[in-house]
Amino acid sequence: MELIRPSLVGTKPTLNRVCLITEALLRRNMNGSIVLFGPPGAGKGTQANRIVNLTSKPQVSTGDMLRAAISDGSNLGVEAKSFMEAGELVPDDVILGLISERLKMEDAKDGVLFDGFPRTIAQAEELDKIAIVSAVVSIEVPDDSIVTRIVGRRMDPETGEIFHVNFNPAPETIIHRLIQRKDDNEITVRNRLKAYHEQTSPLALWYEEKGILVKVNGEQSIEEVGDEIISKLSEL
Ligand code: AMP
Repeated sequence: MELIRPSLVGTKPTLNRVCLITEALLRRNMNGSIVLFGPPGAGKGTQANRIVNLTSKPQVSTGDMLRAAISDGSNLGVEAKSFMEAGELVPDDVILGLISERLKMEDAKDGVLFDGFPRTIAQAEELDKIAIVSAVVSIEVPDDSIVTRIVGRRMDPETGEIFHVNFNPAPETIIHRLIQRKDDNEITVRNRLKAYHEQTSPLALWYEEKGILVKVNGEQSIEEVGDEIISKLSEL
């Protein structure tokens, strides 16, 4: 972690103390919402758990909300399904309707952790009108790694935990119940990456100009990516 000075490194209690200080700084700095930003498969959902535990902000994943709408068979789900299966973005008005309802809920009053939202400049502009964004964490992973990551991704439907067949295998006891998302196949992934580069990645510059973007190397272990996120957020 960047906050560890050489003279402090070496003993576990010291390391723990430095981590605690970093985490306390983070809690103090984050009064509004945090956005987890990055291409599909960058590890946003995986990292969200740690930030949620640390900040007590609820995770708001538009992808999860849309998948829930599809399995409920709601009109919104019917509308979103074909876009999602093609790897295209769901129209802004649908997403903004979902978000404005979610932000009215009691647990969102001190900010939330957005995962997969906003994905267009129009969404970010609307978000600015209804919430305060304190920080945007961009998890950076090159395209080449994304396809391998996504095609091997599996989810535990009981806990929502995400695994990878090679890089983060699930325990033997739960392997039988793991599922693969319908849009986690190579053809759809390439479309999702195209949508990301054309419509979503320009947001990085938009947030950088506001001085709230932190960039994190997503090609490290899950633990190291998490440490870098916490360290950089506490410095913001
Ligand atoms: P995710 O679970 O974040 O990878 O999202 C899965 C799919 O849901 C995306 O490929 C889009 O089709 C759709 N989706 C999720 N969030 C958004 C958003 N903020 N704007 C538009 N489409 C979205």
